[in-house]
Amino acid sequence: MQHHHTALMSPTIGTQRYLESFHFGSPELGKKIYIQASLHADEIPGMLVAWKLKQQLTQLEATGRLKGEVVLVPVANPIGQNQHLMDVHLGRYHLETGQNFNRDYLDTFTDVKARIEPQLSDDPAHNCRIIRAAMCESLQQWQPKTELGSLQKTLQLLSCDADVMLDLHCDFEAALHVYSTYYSWPGIEPLARLLGSQANLLANETGGAPFDCSVDMVWQRLKECFGEAIPQGCLAATVELRGQADVTHQESNQDSSAILRYLEWLGVIAVDGPAPCLPEEVAPSSDLGAVEMLATPCAGILVHRVKPGDWITAGDVFADVIDPISDHVEYVTAAQSGYVYSRNGRRIATAGMLIGNIAGSAVIRSGYLLAP
Ligand SMILES: [Zn+2]
Repeated sequence: MQHHHTALMSPTIGTQRYLESFHFGSPELGKKIYIQASLHADEIPGMLVAWKLKQQLTQLEATGRLKGEVVLVPVANPIGQNQHLMDVHLGRYHLETGQNFNRDYLDTFTDVKARIEPQLSDDPAHNCRIIRAAMCESLQQWQPKTELGSLQKTLQLLSCDADVMLDLHCDFEAALHVYSTYYSWPGIEPLARLLGSQANLLANETGGAPFDCSVDMVWQRLKECFGEAIPQGCLAATVELRGQADVTHQESNQDSSAILRYLEWLGVIAVDGPAPCLPEEVAPSSDLGAVEMLATPCAGILVHRVKPGDWITAGDVFADVIDPISDHVEYVTAAQSGYVYSRNGRRIATAGMLIGNIAGSAVIRSGYLLAP
């Protein structure tokens, strides 16, 4: 295992942060897997899973069972790890700029397309090599102007040549669920089965340029441009490991084991005998546009009537929002039936606040599909 420290741009005089990455195996042996955790810095379940993976990968490497490379970043956002205000950890947005830490990653598509066009051949393996090199060159030429930009560049450089990239997050209060693209989904579905994902939300165009789409969507668009000579270069997913408070040994043991089984399925971990069987059960996948994001039109005490894992019928109440001064009770109802996969962890609502998510079946949203 190699431990790399990558210095980020110094944001203030006398201050320096590093991005720490742990590299197991070797790229010459097979596929490259990139796994990062806690890009939203106050989402800790993935960090615990990454730490357990670190112990397990160290053993697997020592016993010669790694047949590829795994790059692990357990603390993907050291900037957000230092955002505490009045005893509250604020890890979703960059305090200085308000930017969501999982938005605005560099889209290398146009630059990569121009770089590779003169060199493309009919050989997918050759094309794979030149596309990865072009992505790397494109990112190397990016000149970030802020510490946050230098963090984004570092994460993208570590992951841009990965065959599989997993971004471990969590929601406020949630059942385990997975976001991926239609492009990546066939290769991510086995992971969703192994994790016991309860909802799988898919979109190729989410808007907002989140981290998980920064590589696979470049491959998808190159394939649209140049056809079958462009191989499937990357599978990507954001795994939402339940809610923020779900930092437990039991669940993190399950999740790290599931990820290791997936690496066996991918052939990155050698197994004695046949490849592992996948669980038969798989939760239905929904278009991300079929997710109803429920918001309250007014402020008040938030009393949820459903919890993650419940099914809700169209017209049923998701939550009451009670104004104890005016006595007004607002009932926030579901527009369509579906699976409740997450809800807000706060119990006092502000006007316009998102209070929960339901995976439905009919597409009801378009354009920008992500939460703020
Ligand atoms: Zn997150």
